[in-house]
Amino acid sequence: MSGSLYIVSAPSGAGKTSLVNKLIEQDSHIMVSVSTTTRPQRAGEQDGINYHFSSVEGFQEKIEHGDFLEYAEVFGNYYGTSKSAVESQLKAGKDVILEIDWQGAQQIRKLMPQATSIFILPPSLEELHRRLNNRGTDSAEIIDGRMNEAVNEMSHYHEYDFIVINYHFEKALEELHSIFKAGRLTQKVQSQNHQNLINGLLGK
Ligand code: GDP
Ligand code: ADP
Ligand code: 5GP
Repeated sequence: MSGSLYIVSAPSGAGKTSLVNKLIEQDSHIMVSVSTTTRPQRAGEQDGINYHFSSVEGFQEKIEHGDFLEYAEVFGNYYGTSKSAVESQLKAGKDVILEIDWQGAQQIRKLMPQATSIFILPPSLEELHRRLNNRGTDSAEIIDGRMNEAVNEMSHYHEYDFIVINYHFEKALEELHSIFKAGRLTQKVQSQNHQNLINGLLGK
């Protein structure tokens, strides 16, 4: 039995990390891939939990070794997804979430066209700015840069299979969860997981 791959993208501050963290608390079948990044560690972030924090040189070595399933430059820093970690979690039957930007999403779709992709939208640009400010993790300059990139990121919404609007957190969480629950009920996944039952029912 192997799990399914999910891509979650959103402009910075839309709430993807909060939603994904709540989702994995609620559903033990779902794991999130821990990316490697060269951006500075924020207060409260833990190496190996939120990200694997890396130097630019270390990141380039990993690129050369072919360690990444995808990587991209986002807001002037490198971010990449570990190939081996994702493959082993999928093999263990987990649904794996990649919290990655639109550039990474395009690379993954080429490699794994069966991946399901989800885009999270904020209720407004004003609310997005408010959330970035309230989060309290970034300087005004960094927040301005992320707001400038937000429209560009959101302009890729139509490349995704599902759109969730994060207005009410609990409602957005339920909608996000429903995508994973429906994904486990597809004919392809059910045929794989219940082969014996189906064969028995069909007298095979
Ligand atoms: P946040 O989105 O505001 O929490 O800020 P981060 O610095 O944690 O992430 C910035 C951007 O990098 C987001 O758009 C993420 O989707 C993207 N990102 C994070 N990890 C990866 C990755 O492994 N690959 C790619 N391509 N993008 C990533
Ligand atoms: P992202 O990972 O997309 O950058 P975060 O998960 O860090 O976003 O969320 C940005 C901020 O917005 C956080 O402070 C989070 O607590 C808050 N937030 C998330 N969802 C909501 C919501 N529905 N209503 C109000 N605040 C929210
Ligand atoms: P945590 O995972 O720490 O409980 O939540 C992370 C953040 O998500 C919180 O700081 C909060 O801003 C947001 N959040 C969690 N639950 C809710 C909720 O029920 N409603 C809203 N509006 N935001 C929430």
